[in-house]
Amino acid sequence: MAGQALSETGLNPAIGEWSGPLGLPAFSAIKDSDFEPAFDAALRAHLADIDAIAENSQVPTFENTIVALERAGALLTKVSGIFWNLTGAHTNDALQALERKLSPELSRHYSTIVMNRPLFERVDRLYENRDTLGLDAEADRLLELTWKSFIRSGAKLSDADQARLAEINERLASLGTQFSQNVLADESEYALILEAEGDLAGLPDTLVSSMAAAAAERGHDGNHAVTLSRSIIEPFLTFSERRDLRETAFKAWVARGETSAERDNRPLVAETVRLRAEKAALLGYDSFAQFKLDDTMAKTPEAVRDLLGTVWEKARNRAAEEAADLSELIAEAGHNHAVAPWDWRHYSEKVRAARYAFNDTEVKPYLQLEKLIEAAFHTAEKLFGISFRKHDDVRTYHPDVRVFEVLDANGERMAVFLGDYFARPSKRSGAWMSQFQGQHKLANDSGEAGQTPIVVNVMNFAKAPAGEPVLITMDDARTLFHEFGHALHGMLSDVTYPSIAGTSVSRDFVELPSQLFEHWLTVPQILQQFAVHHRTGESIPQELLDKMKAAAKFNKGFANVEFTSSALVDMAFHALTPEQATDIDPMSFQSEVLAELGMPTEIVMRHATPHFGHVFSGDGYSAGYYSYMWSGVLDADAFRAFEETGDPFDGATADKLRRHIYAAGGSTDPEEAYIAFRGRLPTPDALLEKEGLA
Ligand SMILES: [Zn+2]
Repeated sequence: MAGQALSETGLNPAIGEWSGPLGLPAFSAIKDSDFEPAFDAALRAHLADIDAIAENSQVPTFENTIVALERAGALLTKVSGIFWNLTGAHTNDALQALERKLSPELSRHYSTIVMNRPLFERVDRLYENRDTLGLDAEADRLLELTWKSFIRSGAKLSDADQARLAEINERLASLGTQFSQNVLADESEYALILEAEGDLAGLPDTLVSSMAAAAAERGHDGNHAVTLSRSIIEPFLTFSERRDLRETAFKAWVARGETSAERDNRPLVAETVRLRAEKAALLGYDSFAQFKLDDTMAKTPEAVRDLLGTVWEKARNRAAEEAADLSELIAEAGHNHAVAPWDWRHYSEKVRAARYAFNDTEVKPYLQLEKLIEAAFHTAEKLFGISFRKHDDVRTYHPDVRVFEVLDANGERMAVFLGDYFARPSKRSGAWMSQFQGQHKLANDSGEAGQTPIVVNVMNFAKAPAGEPVLITMDDARTLFHEFGHALHGMLSDVTYPSIAGTSVSRDFVELPSQLFEHWLTVPQILQQFAVHHRTGESIPQELLDKMKAAAKFNKGFANVEFTSSALVDMAFHALTPEQATDIDPMSFQSEVLAELGMPTEIVMRHATPHFGHVFSGDGYSAGYYSYMWSGVLDADAFRAFEETGDPFDGATADKLRRHIYAAGGSTDPEEAYIAFRGRLPTPDALLEKEGLA
């Protein structure tokens, strides 16, 4: 497509030449029907770019191969930037149909590229000679990452091995889909129908009405149903006074994925574990865990086990203390039984209510969405010297979307930020950050030197009635700060090459900028200024904050035991060699691992193997469930750098944070980046303290 105006191709130029204000796409000029021909053309153009690189008769250089790969597919980047944001935030039937059609096409497209042998040979030759190329650190890292991504996709394998790898990948994909569909079916089919009045003992009214609705949906009008959706089963186990019913419901809940012969996930797990081990061996790794961890900050299964092991011992001790509290309550209530897993939530809620009495409705009047958005901007201004200028006249894909120009300390535009805060039927649920365009400094065909990022935060807050402020919960406020932390990671990015910009970092590092930013929400000066009562304007009372702070450490033994045991079982499955992974019985394997750990009898894994979707319905968090805790270590330790100075906005610390973490993208190894910021590797101390496990 290079050099040819889009209008001459019959495509809508608005889709590739973004001509709206602030460099945004001219959304109103783009129709749904423009996307399909644009993708067709963009995919063809990308492949043409790739072929030109692969078939270049000149000796491979960093510029004509690696940089050329970075530049390739410019139109595809533009079209994708608009399309994937719309399918998340403002979709419709036409976009969804195209999305289904595109998914397999895109996966074929990218595997064609990594399997292109002449292309890989050029990359491989550069990598072999990398010491002689005179590259700067960022270019050197890009070369290494590019080479590794080819290797990890099997570029170096023989034809026969490549064919076997493709076969394995395909089989793993269908095993993953089958796994999650089985869990879903088990979850949606099960219902414990309650008919007697006494069956509802202890349940709050809101739960009773959801259970009535769930029963009606299943043709049991007038009765109540306990279903396995978290929004029903968890409060049921918490509030039901009926120990017999708690036991029945709990047992059904933890048996998802192994309840019926036709939906049994256990053989699927066995096959998945075996194939993953075989895949890792094909690619030259001892185990699947080593393969998955190779491009992360943790790097090795040993490093992961070290962290999990440290937390495990402390969590188990804390959980034993918590269990003793529960036993006491059980005895006080005149019962004579040990704490069973179906008792834990019930009695711990009684302990919580007695010790930390407060609820969300007391906090909410102080949490106005508009004030908290201001608070997030204000925090970024204080830390990084950037500022936000609102553009009320700029229209995007939906009238609710707010547009801000983000200016650096020198007054130059460094990013555009879109805030899309309210729920609507055309929007996917959840909260996320994504980009229309990422940052980089490569000059393009027209000689423009790089581009500034266009970043969006998408949330699903409910609008308030006209004239009233939108009030949110503390959890929502945390989500707002979390996603804004990701947004800053995109906006502060300051690297040369697009594929390592902003949030293009490893899975166990990407939550650091977001989780770290959450800490500023509860800094006293931010709360005093921005958590103000919507009627009186008074700051949130200290007493309420103290209660919230104390409650945050409650029941953490339980939470960390259920999490850490799951993470350790995940690691154990994926540390197996192909020989060890042949013919395993997943449930006895799980039992052995737990027995060796000394799993408390009162608590079960947060996700037992037959419904451990993070790990078995697709690749996503396989050998990676630990990363939630890893990020927790990083953000707690990183915030402590500010606490140690006595100033949560300490300038020198903020400068280092910006330079080495928020601006660096994937341009350095995450461990080196962290050390550059903190002066040392992270320790779990701050996390353990935050969790009350120190
Ligand atoms: Zn996140």
